[in-house]
Amino acid sequence: MTSRRTPGPIGLSPQSAPLTPGTFGLANSFAPGSVGQTASGAGTAKQPASCAFVRPTTKHLVAAPDSAFVRRRGLSGAVTLSAVTSLPSYTWPHGPATAALSQDITISGHTIASIRPLDAVYSGLNLPSFSQIVDFLKVLPKKNRTHTHTLIVSPVPHPSSGQQQGETIAQGGADDIIIFPASKVRSANFYDNLLVHESGHNYQSSVWKSGAMVAQWTADIAADGNRPSAYSASNSGEDFSEFYILYITTLGTACAQTLQSTYPARYARMSGY
Ligand SMILES: [Zn+2]
Repeated sequence: MTSRRTPGPIGLSPQSAPLTPGTFGLANSFAPGSVGQTASGAGTAKQPASCAFVRPTTKHLVAAPDSAFVRRRGLSGAVTLSAVTSLPSYTWPHGPATAALSQDITISGHTIASIRPLDAVYSGLNLPSFSQIVDFLKVLPKKNRTHTHTLIVSPVPHPSSGQQQGETIAQGGADDIIIFPASKVRSANFYDNLLVHESGHNYQSSVWKSGAMVAQWTADIAADGNRPSAYSASNSGEDFSEFYILYITTLGTACAQTLQSTYPARYARMSGY
């Protein structure tokens, strides 16, 4: 872990539980689903029926609908997977070294290295499936995807696992994304939103070159006078990543106009990056 890594979302606590800084509580708006279920589809996605999801909400987390992710995936370049490589000893974040599998995922010329547990231990950890993870990477525009270099699916829980107030099941920052075991199954839509949030921390690291640039975003928050979600109030970095979900999922749709009119200062800032 480097100091740049931003502790990321996803608590597994009930929504009524108090927030722990750096974690997310469970948002009721996420539908239950199976880990093996993917939200992928052909490029026949409809635009969201409503742009209401971009409006500020008192719910814990921004929750863009499946249709927005399916539409984004339909715009993705082709995906190429390398052969699977066996790693005899890989030291997991927060954990010991064990055997692991490595596989490169290349989309539109950008390669992201992925590390995951052996098949025999993958199941039962409430981790998203590998195909879900590939589907997630297709959601991002190329410009944004290039800021993520490594994706680690870890069999070792984050140290916060089991804490009453929530546990971290993903982290972004320092050019990589780590996904930790969860204590319950999460839907594909939950992971789609979560992983765009985490990739937002990687993008953030590339565009915030100084404290002054962070301060610009903080001023933009004040100018807009609102918050995309309750969690976005944690700090400017979390606000950026929550807004980033809305920005990415509405790019090129009519909902982008709703986003712009609702968050004019942030919209102008992110469009200018
Ligand atoms: Zn975050």
